[in-house]
Amino acid sequence: MSDYQIDQLPWLAEPHQRFVDQHYRGKTSHAHLFNIDRALGGDKLAKAAAQTILCQQLTPVGACGQCKSCLLLAAGNHPDLYIIEPDGNQIKVDQIRQLCQKLTQTAQQGGARVAIIVDAERLNLAAANALLKTLEEPGDDVVLILQTNTSAQLLATITSRCQTLKFIEPTKLDIQHWLAAQQLLPAANAEGKTHDVTWCLSVVGGPLALANSLSSQHYQQLLTFRQDWAHSLKTGHLSASLLKVSEQQIVDALNVLYLYLRQYVLKSSRVKADRQPLNPLVQAKVIDLGGQVMKMCHKLETMPSVNTQALCQQYVLAFRKLTN
Ligand SMILES: [Zn+2]
Repeated sequence: MSDYQIDQLPWLAEPHQRFVDQHYRGKTSHAHLFNIDRALGGDKLAKAAAQTILCQQLTPVGACGQCKSCLLLAAGNHPDLYIIEPDGNQIKVDQIRQLCQKLTQTAQQGGARVAIIVDAERLNLAAANALLKTLEEPGDDVVLILQTNTSAQLLATITSRCQTLKFIEPTKLDIQHWLAAQQLLPAANAEGKTHDVTWCLSVVGGPLALANSLSSQHYQQLLTFRQDWAHSLKTGHLSASLLKVSEQQIVDALNVLYLYLRQYVLKSSRVKADRQPLNPLVQAKVIDLGGQVMKMCHKLETMPSVNTQALCQQYVLAFRKLTN
């Protein structure tokens, strides 16, 4: 997996600079909330913010990269930086108790101590409650940075104690331009048009993952699934790639089908000269079928074995029944 640095992710430039500014002018809080998905590099921004705080020769544009603190961070062993990540699905109370305990000790490098909590929405209730007191009175020179993918799942008692960093998500067009600048887009067609690769963002999980898909065979596989679903739903017969979907690929294949069904309803509800818009009742049923496909995707994550071909065939038949 290619590992992007924060200065390679243009949508993080502005929030990063804003954080540096505030810190440089001494107008910073001791508890921050970064409501920026990991898929967009939210965890990387949290680490850059920690570096801003720990750097001993901070410049107006960010950490110096040369002081002892910066070197320790680059080596991945700064003694005054603590990173908490979920243990399994949750961040557990013992992890937070240990962290709070450590934060009461003196800094080894004589500066600040910083704790980053990654995927903070995964704090379980006990852990969140254990964190409250430290969030309220973190102690001198202690800074907490909470990165979350869905702040809606955080307790209001947590979010209200943090300063939220303003962030504007990149649009699909921003992402397409970024991928072009990384030279990851497929070659333009004969008319000089580049193909929009952002259609599968929700399948892969974000721009960083899409960049990885494009640099491997994965993106091509998704594209083949999309073409083959279109063909199979039209003819009623499973096309090549869907006849031999492996158990590792089935979730991808079904996610692509879900997108296709959603797209189908959107397109067919527009009135066009050459055809009737889709009957609303049929529309609702296709949407419902999409819902079933999604549910199956979640189920498959814990299912040991599945007849992928039969599953694909089943959805093709269901679709044909609804639309013919
Ligand atoms: Zn430095």
